[in-house]
Amino acid sequence: MDCVFCRIARGEVQARTVLQDEHLIAFDDIHPAAPVHVLIVPRKHLANLSAAREEDALLLGRMLLAARDVARARGIEEPGYRVVMNAGEHGGQEVFHCHLHVLGGRPLGRILPAR
Ligand code: 5GP
Ligand code: ZN
Repeated sequence: MDCVFCRIARGEVQARTVLQDEHLIAFDDIHPAAPVHVLIVPRKHLANLSAAREEDALLLGRMLLAARDVARARGIEEPGYRVVMNAGEHGGQEVFHCHLHVLGGRPLGRILPAR
């Protein structure tokens, strides 16, 4: 399958890896939007969250825990970070292999309107 994140997960395309295990791989985004910008990518190809099923619940949980581990490894647990998942066209998704963004290293501002 010609999916760039599957190719990175298989080691066919180079990426700066932060951590990996049998379920997922985390690597630096090629166009970082913040000083720390790491992508958490499951080895299983799922187009996005909308393609996830009940059987993927554990994998989705592992992705969140990997985001925690990346934040710790990159030293941004404090003062904090943001985890983002885009889905579909209006969600701004560009690569249709489900992934989380871990962003930090600068104040990120609010993305939801202040009350
Ligand atoms: P999306 O908009 O789909 O949530 O985010 C896709 C992200 O993947 C973008 O931030 C983009 O910079 C990153 N990206 C796309 N192609 C590559 C690649 O070949 N290598 C790496 N490391 N990141 C990529
Ligand atoms: Zn893929």
